[in-house]
Amino acid sequence: MFSQYQIFEQSSFANEIGAAIHLCPNASRVLLRWGLDAEKARFDVTQSGLTARANSLDPIYEADYHKIKTKYSAPWYLSHRVDLHNTLKDLATKDLGKGPAGTIRLRSKVVEIDPDSATVTLADGTSHNADIIIAADGVHSRAVSKVIGHENPAAPTGFSAFRFLIPTEELLANEKTKHFLDGKEGQFKIFVGEGGDDWCTTLVEQWNISAKTSDVLEEFRSFHSDLVATMSKATDVKLWKLLYREPIPTWHRKRLLLIGDAAHPMLPHQGQAGAQAIEDGAAIGVLLSGLQVPPSPPPSADLLRFDLNTEIERKLEAFETVRRKRASLMQIFSNAGQDEAEKVREEAGNQAEFHEFNFGHDVLGESERVLGAL
Ligand SMILES: Cc1cc2nc3c(=O)[nH]c(=O)nc-3n(C[C@H](O)[C@H](O)[C@H](O)COP(=O)(O)OP(=O)(O)OC[C@H]3O[C@@H](n4cnc5c(N)ncnc54)[C@H](O)[C@@H]3O)c2cc1C
Repeated sequence: MFSQYQIFEQSSFANEIGAAIHLCPNASRVLLRWGLDAEKARFDVTQSGLTARANSLDPIYEADYHKIKTKYSAPWYLSHRVDLHNTLKDLATKDLGKGPAGTIRLRSKVVEIDPDSATVTLADGTSHNADIIIAADGVHSRAVSKVIGHENPAAPTGFSAFRFLIPTEELLANEKTKHFLDGKEGQFKIFVGEGGDDWCTTLVEQWNISAKTSDVLEEFRSFHSDLVATMSKATDVKLWKLLYREPIPTWHRKRLLLIGDAAHPMLPHQGQAGAQAIEDGAAIGVLLSGLQVPPSPPPSADLLRFDLNTEIERKLEAFETVRRKRASLMQIFSNAGQDEAEKVREEAGNQAEFHEFNFGHDVLGESERVLGAL
């Protein structure tokens, strides 16, 4: 466990935005161990799934997910991103979870990182030093080039996604749309159809570009009229440019470690990017828990630094053993949806096998096993 840590966040956390994020058992298992109170966090449990044709609403695949919790020893949650964010913030900063509470320093933009001395410099000119710097600075990470020596450029996939929220009351008030909700508590629905031109002309990896409801209706005009009626209720439509980045060969250099989207940005088709970031957090928490503290009094500053560097290298290597192969595979799998294994590779697996690989992984158990063997 870290004895002390600080989080430097560039924003003021004043305008948390977003929509839904689902938390599969591989992530919810971790959150529950960290002390998550799912009811307080307002999470819902996924009960069933439906994949249907968008032009006819004919079902392609229906699944009952009631047994997910028993099968994987953790539920499959649906959450609003703001609720998840607040929950994680509380677990990190209040004395609720297992480890010591950390501090978050808002409006603290990191402008320089030195992997050798584990020092960050902030925009206000102050420098801060630690034993390890963990860069969780997202898809536009400035830490990646410090680790691999160059940028990891994003390649266009040729697709972008429209995103919007519609209040359930509005859907229930309309004859053409209310049947999507009738008696379908916790149902995860996917409609498959033609469409999917890239409406986004920019090459920037952004997910909050403003778009128009009329763009959505034009793109999906061949969809069933009940879906068109649903989409016509969209306001505040956002466009998300879908770009792909290759897995990178290492996630650490000296005393700087990349985690989350900074280490393994991925497409949304498996819905696993956030879950992989949570798995990273779980693994680093376990693996650093055995970090040797310096003897007191230390033998000498030079010897102490040498020992600490060796110990940190051992821990970060162990972290990559636990995490890099799995998250890199997930990056590659994420080129395809769970029902599109053929887009990744012939015989890559069917939906049930994807579930097994994604949901069944116990990152805490795996990290504890690797820690025990160190
Ligand atoms: C629209 C959308 C829907 C998604 N849905 C799902 C889903 O259903 N399931 C799922 O598992 N995943 C989902 N994801 C993916 C998930 O949101 C991301 O993978 C996850 O947020 C990555 O977490 P992170 O901490 O690595 O990076 P981020 O969440 O991007 O956080 C990075 C943080 O670092 C801060 N920062 C950046 N640079 C600096 C700097 N220089 N100094 C200080 N602070 C800095 C940023 O302000 C930000 O707060 C979705 C993503 C998007 C965009």
